[in-house]
Amino acid sequence: MLKGKTALVTGSTSGIGLGIAKALAEQSADIVLSGLSSDDEADALKQEISETYGVKAGFSGANLTDPDAIEGMMGYVARDFGGADILVNNAGVQHVSPIEDFPVARWDLIIALNLSAAFHTTRMAISGMKEKGWGRIINTASAHALVASPYKSAYVAAKHGIAGLTKTVALEGAEHGIRCNAICPGYVYTPLVEGQVADTAKARGITEEEVKRDVLLAAQPTKEFVTSEQIGAFASFLCSPGADGINGAILSMDGGWVAQ
Ligand code: NAD
Repeated sequence: MLKGKTALVTGSTSGIGLGIAKALAEQSADIVLSGLSSDDEADALKQEISETYGVKAGFSGANLTDPDAIEGMMGYVARDFGGADILVNNAGVQHVSPIEDFPVARWDLIIALNLSAAFHTTRMAISGMKEKGWGRIINTASAHALVASPYKSAYVAAKHGIAGLTKTVALEGAEHGIRCNAICPGYVYTPLVEGQVADTAKARGITEEEVKRDVLLAAQPTKEFVTSEQIGAFASFLCSPGADGINGAILSMDGGWVAQ
């Protein structure tokens, strides 16, 4: 379905980004991975993607909090892949702290990575998409693009910002064959969360099942994690002809979290 297209997926060396990268590779898109991995880890992932799916795979280790590094990454994608036909803005981090104690450096980092990086990649990719008359931009937002939780001021502000950016880019690209949408996951069982389950069980003296149900999934009515594979499948659908009418949508995938 996506043969001849290139997908740049930021923050795709683990978790949700890797799930999306694999799902798009399965549809025959060439893939540019990105993340803060070592060269060895990046080489192994590139090899896995290219051998499993028979596509071309590249990697950028750009630190996406730095606009100059983002420019370097976009230059690499333009030179080696002919530009990004599909851009998935997914890289993101979290920090939890009351606002009065929130470290200013963490605020700046979260806004730079979770919000401004998507502005930079989009502004550099969209001219190429307009020239080709086709482009898909998918932003990994969060349930926190729609509702807040205490102690997550920077993350919630950045994710609400991503929702606004998504709608704006959707309007600007609409008549050029470009679609821009945001996926808003609830809790996703990434390797990062997996580690937290064991630690929390130990700290609270409860079972891992109780941690998942009563702590992590307290707000998720299905009491099930969303998976990276499900998000990959959703992203893949958003790149298919069946989704051509979806534009500027802030799409929940959270087991019912924001329905409450
Ligand atoms: P993860 O920690 O598994 O992956 C994060 C990726 O971002 C990695 O590839 C990492 O190398 C990369 N990265 C981190 N800092 C970077 C930087 N400065 N420059 C370049 N790359 C950088 O995280 P995840 O759980 O897969 O989350 C991915 C996205 O999904 C984030 O935007 C996150 O906010 C969002 N999200 C996650 C969940 C969840 O429950 N895991 C829920 C909702 C939304």
